[in-house]
Amino acid sequence: MKIARVESYVAEQVLETPFFFSQFGFDRRQICLVKVIAEDGSYGWGEGYGPAGVVQAGVEFLAPLVIGEDPLGVEAIWNKMHLRALDYARRGVLVASMSAIDIAIWDLRGKLLGQPVSVLLGGRRREKVKVYATGMYFVDSDDLIGKLVDEARSYVAAGFKALKMKVGLGVETDLRHVRAVRKAIGTEVELMVDANHAYSRSEARSFADQIEELDIGFFEEPLSPEDYEGYSELRGRTRIPIAGGECEYLLAGFRQLLSNQCVDIAQPDICGAGGLTETKRIATLARAFQTNVLPHSWGTGIAFAAGLHLVSTLDPLPGRLRMPDMMLEMDRSENALRDNLTSPQFQVEDGYVAVPKAPGLGVDVNPEQLARFARGG
Ligand code: CA
Repeated sequence: MKIARVESYVAEQVLETPFFFSQFGFDRRQICLVKVIAEDGSYGWGEGYGPAGVVQAGVEFLAPLVIGEDPLGVEAIWNKMHLRALDYARRGVLVASMSAIDIAIWDLRGKLLGQPVSVLLGGRRREKVKVYATGMYFVDSDDLIGKLVDEARSYVAAGFKALKMKVGLGVETDLRHVRAVRKAIGTEVELMVDANHAYSRSEARSFADQIEELDIGFFEEPLSPEDYEGYSELRGRTRIPIAGGECEYLLAGFRQLLSNQCVDIAQPDICGAGGLTETKRIATLARAFQTNVLPHSWGTGIAFAAGLHLVSTLDPLPGRLRMPDMMLEMDRSENALRDNLTSPQFQVEDGYVAVPKAPGLGVDVNPEQLARFARGG
């Protein structure tokens, strides 16, 4: 069996309510989806993280390397793509293009072998994965605190046991927001904060010192992803676990993050850092550095399913009889592509989502919805 075709699509949704975070705003969602099709018509889906049109251009560059290959040899194909792209893709969006193709081949491979991706990754350690709600982005509002608090309460009401909110507008503003949300949700729900690398070193120190008393699960991307020394310094002086890595690519990038002692929790994006093939390697590397992996996830059901399968195979560190849960990020911000393009939709039950049992990733793309959202369609 050989791969016959590689198709790519840019799906776009204009948001009903534009929102922003510490770096820039969104008025639309755009995602590049990739379909890898075998000679017999069977297929797999993947998606890339990052500017969708750029991801798609990369997919078109890489597709000739994939066509004619055996989809069971996903790692061999990955290595071939990597060697061809290495001169241009030690970081960045071309790696996301590789990631999208790789995820699609994993999905196809699973279908051809009649096995879920998690089994092919080495086997599940759990049948359901704890998820945390990502939301509490910023909107233009006279009552932003009220909006953040209402949103946090809605996630708790929906069963989430852990939430992550945005910070990075400025230390004093952020403190007001985090204190209000913590007060609203009580002490039983885990709360994490994400600055999207908006702080200087001194701001990050000040903020960390002042939120320690609020029982923060982790402090994500406090500093520029280029500031490895700053991460290491901050991590050495705060009790709050430091998380990061969504802007990091490939095994070599994570080696730099990990060997510099930057993070307690490494957050590769499977759709950006190199696909399932490379993120599994990154997770293995992280184990050697005694660092847990908690993937970043911000896309459709394809990205989320890839995360579920991978996280279901990971053991937390250090091991013990009663092990804590491994978590996966579940973005709850407005995204009609996530909510409509793929099926089945993932249901949160008491803070957990079941890992699909069907062969491959266990999600499919609805062709009518794809036509509805396809850019230019
Ligand atoms: Ca983030």
